[in-house]
Amino acid sequence: MVFRLFLLLLSQATLGLLGGAWLGWPGAVGGVVLAALLMLALDSWRAGRVLRWLGQADVTDVPVLRGLWGEAAYRALRALRAEQQKTRDSDERLREFVSAIQASPNGVILLDPDGRIEWCNDIAARHFGIDPQRDLLQHIGNLVREPAFAAYYAGKDYERPVKVIGREDKPGHPVKLSVQLHSYGGGHQLMLSIDVTALAQADAMRRDFVANVSHEIRTPLTVLAGFVETMQSLPLDARERERYLALMAAQSERMQTLVNDLLTLSRLEGSPPPGASDVVELGALMAQCEAEARGLSGLLHPPDGKPQQLRFGAPPPFQLAGAEGELRSAMSNLINNAVRYTPAGGSIDVRWEQLPDGRARMVVTDTGPGIAPEHVPRLGERFYRVDRSRSRESGGTGLGLAITKHVAQRHGGELQISSQQGRGSVFALVFPAQRVRALPPPAVAVSAA
Ligand code: ADP
Repeated sequence: MVFRLFLLLLSQATLGLLGGAWLGWPGAVGGVVLAALLMLALDSWRAGRVLRWLGQADVTDVPVLRGLWGEAAYRALRALRAEQQKTRDSDERLREFVSAIQASPNGVILLDPDGRIEWCNDIAARHFGIDPQRDLLQHIGNLVREPAFAAYYAGKDYERPVKVIGREDKPGHPVKLSVQLHSYGGGHQLMLSIDVTALAQADAMRRDFVANVSHEIRTPLTVLAGFVETMQSLPLDARERERYLALMAAQSERMQTLVNDLLTLSRLEGSPPPGASDVVELGALMAQCEAEARGLSGLLHPPDGKPQQLRFGAPPPFQLAGAEGELRSAMSNLINNAVRYTPAGGSIDVRWEQLPDGRARMVVTDTGPGIAPEHVPRLGERFYRVDRSRSRESGGTGLGLAITKHVAQRHGGELQISSQQGRGSVFALVFPAQRVRALPPPAVAVSAA
């Protein structure tokens, strides 16, 4: 500043002296004024350049100027750059924030104070069938038209969520959402939607399960209570008492079997999968299952009628790593089902085989009634039965295949079912190759010399 003043005075003195020497005192005054005008013109030209530069979209092309205007341009550029950096940083933060909300498994919609959509993530768009671009600034009530939501929105009590049906809900593919509004900054609202279909299904399954268990226990209990009442109120002779007691024993056995199956299921669900360190000798297990099946077949189809043909293959040339008790119950469930559902004169084949990819498979084939295709995918659900009366008559609980499927899955395998109505069924347990072990070489007997 001092330098500029000095420069002005110097130029005025120089031009004043030159003008004075040339034209006398009017020349000196003219020189001083001319020097001031020249300085003003130079300043205006520089200020004009700085203003033009500031008006450009691209401010990187800073004009090269000396003195105060050069310094002013340089400082303005620095301030602009700092501002641009700040904008870039907050843009970056906003992008991160948006991608975090996009990554959320829940739907998020931001509503303005009038309930119009300001922004929504992809999940919310899917939940409610919203187009994030087209539906911007649309009122939420026009897009989510469910009466439950309309009542919730109008009620203005957002303490609890409301359950609504998702846009992708279809017959056989239910979609249930839990939606809640949360207020923020000056009347805006955050609308959160969570897919609770699995929870709702689990809840429904739990309710069905409790209802099924109660029903299964109530039936034999009612029968038992009836017999007890009869025995208490009627004078019965010894033969009748015997008959009644036998019927009561059968009902209590049915309850016991049911409770045992329920306990087995809950143990399977609550314990870690079996490790691979215990090796099960399948030959011995097959022998136990065979003895049990032949006993059951004899009971259900007395030898005076047409007996069932039971054929068991040779003991498999391999062992399985797993839990012996679980494998026994899975194998005997399949074999006993074949015996129970195959009518007299039918045949049942049981064999183990190793598949080309190394997996082991136990196959139970019967010539029973078979199962209609619509039932097959549901076998393995607890208490799902195709023929209720046949199941109960033969002592079934409706849990056998659920236990079997669980055991197979816990061993990394699967339960395969194929059936033709009227021709018979094939139930197979498949175990992964990692669980298959070669049989140890037979022990050589050492004879005393
Ligand atoms: P249950 O105790 O009723 O036999 P399961 O879970 O073992 O229960 O079997 C479920 C249903 O599958 C049975 O009720 C029966 O209708 C059907 N089922 C199972 N095995 C056979 C089979 N070998 N042949 C025909 N139907 C079968």
